[in-house]
Amino acid sequence: MNSKNIRAAFLDFFEGKKHKIVASAPMVIKDDPTLMFTNAGMNQFKEFFLGNTRSKYPRIADTQKCLRVSGKHNDLEEVGKDTYHHTMFEMLGNWSFGDYFKKEAISWAWELLTEVYKIDPETLYVTVFEGSTDEDQLEMDQEAYDFWKGIIPEERILMGDKKDNFWEMGDQGPCGPCSEIHVDLRSAEEKAEVNGASLVNQDHPHVIEIWNLVFIQYNRKSNGQLEPLPEKHVDTGMGFERLCMALQGVKSNYDTDIFQPLIQALERFTGLSYGKDEAVDVAIRVISDHIRAVAFAIADGQLPSNTGAGYVIRRILRRAIRYGFTFLNIQEPFIYKLTPVLTEAMGEAFPELSEQQQLIENVIREEEHSFLKTLEQGLLLLEQSLKKTKGKVMDGRKAFELYDTYGFPIDLTALILEEKGYSLDEQGFEEAMQEQKSRSKSASEVTKEDWIVLKQGTSQEFVGYDQLEASVNLL
Ligand code: ATP
Ligand code: MG
Ligand code: MG
Ligand code: MG
Repeated sequence: MNSKNIRAAFLDFFEGKKHKIVASAPMVIKDDPTLMFTNAGMNQFKEFFLGNTRSKYPRIADTQKCLRVSGKHNDLEEVGKDTYHHTMFEMLGNWSFGDYFKKEAISWAWELLTEVYKIDPETLYVTVFEGSTDEDQLEMDQEAYDFWKGIIPEERILMGDKKDNFWEMGDQGPCGPCSEIHVDLRSAEEKAEVNGASLVNQDHPHVIEIWNLVFIQYNRKSNGQLEPLPEKHVDTGMGFERLCMALQGVKSNYDTDIFQPLIQALERFTGLSYGKDEAVDVAIRVISDHIRAVAFAIADGQLPSNTGAGYVIRRILRRAIRYGFTFLNIQEPFIYKLTPVLTEAMGEAFPELSEQQQLIENVIREEEHSFLKTLEQGLLLLEQSLKKTKGKVMDGRKAFELYDTYGFPIDLTALILEEKGYSLDEQGFEEAMQEQKSRSKSASEVTKEDWIVLKQGTSQEFVGYDQLEASVNLL
C-alpha cells in the first residue's frame, strides 16, 4: 500500500464511522501566544476540550501537520539519529467530542489496523494506564483493560505509568488516561532474543509506538484536584510515517515511499549512496527530514527570520545545510532542489505546497546561499584564530564567539580542529555558553506541558534550540 492510499484509507474508514473529515490546521500557529507550532492533532480542537466552544461535529478525523522542536515535545535531538522521530510529521487522528468513548475508540482502532491495514494482530501490543499512588490516587483504567481483553490476549496488554499513559493539557484543564498501540517489527532472529513486551516504551528501533488513544474524562481544577467531566471525549493520534513503515514492510520511516524520493534525489545530487556509511546516512536523514519542516513552514507563510517561529525555522534549515556541508561535502546550495520532489510526493494531500512551491524554492536557495557564505567566512576566522593559538588547544571562548556572533556551528569547529591536529577547550566554551544563557534567561520561555507559557512582557525569543544544539553538538 503506498502512502497516499494509507492516508486515504484512514480518512475513509473514519468517514464511514460518521466522522467529519476536516483539513489540517496550519503547522505554524499565528494566533496563540502560548504555542508556536502545532505539535499534535488535538491543538486545533483545544477550545472544544476546554468547554469554551462546542464543536459543530461530534466526530472529526483528519491528518495534521505537526512540528516537535520546542517545548515539552522536542524531538530534534533524535531526528536523523533514530529512524522514527521527525521534526515535521503527519498525525492521523479521530476525535469524539462528548460522543463515543473507550469502547468504540478501541474497537475501531483495532478494526482499522488489523482488518483494513491487515497488520498481523500477533505483532501488536497495547498499554493501559496502571493508576497512581500520588496525590491524585488514580485508579487503573479497568474499563480500557476490559475492552482490550475482549480483543487481544492479556499477555500483550501492558501497564503504563503516568508519564506514558496519562495525558494532561497543562497544569489545569481536561486530562485522562490513554492507551497506546505499539507494533513489533523485529525479525525472527531479533525476536528469538527477547520477549517483545519488555521492549515497549524502551525506544527499541523496531518495537514502536504508533497510535495513542487518549480518553479525556477528568478536569484538573486550579487547586490541582481532579473532577470527572460531565462530557467525555476521545483524542487519538497516530504517526503517519510510522504507520507507513509498518505497512510497507520496512524498518525505518526513511525507507518508506514518503522519504525515498527525497533520499534518492540526495543521492543523485551528491553522488553518495544511502546505507553505506553511518555519518552520511544521518546527514541524509536529517536533510530529508528538515526540508519538510522548512517547506511546510514557508507554505504556511512563515519565512526564516531572526525572531520567534521564523528563527526556529531558520535554525532547522541551517542545521540541514551544515549537515550537508560537513558530511556530504557540498559547498553550494542544493537543498532547495528537493522542493519539487517534495511537492510531487505531498502536494496532492497538502495543496499549499504546490501553490507556494516557487516561493519555497527561492527562500531556501537564498538562505542556503547566505549561510554557506557565513560558513566560509567562519572558516577563515577559524584559520586566523588558530594562527594566533599557542599550543594545540583552541580557546573555548574564541570558539563560542565564532558560534555566537558568526553562527559558525561548534561541531564544525570541533571537526576542523581535529583534522588539523588541535583540540577544543570545551570547558571554556561551556562557560561562555552558560554566561550567555543566564544573560538571556529573563527573556526565556517556561515550558508547561503541551503549551509554552511565555513570561509576561518578554519577546517571543526562542532560546532553547540554541542551547540544545550546542550541547548536542559537543557530544
Ligand atoms: P514517542 O514516545 O515515540 O516519542 P509520543 O508518545 O511522544 O511518541 P504522542 O504524543 O503520543 O507521541 O503522539 C501520537 C503519535 O504520533 C505517536 O504514537 C507516534 O506514532 C507519533 N509521533 C510522535 N512524535 C513523533 C515524531 N517526532 N515523529 C514522528 N511521529 C511521531
Ligand atoms: Mg515523544
Ligand atoms: Mg510515547
Ligand atoms: Mg504517546
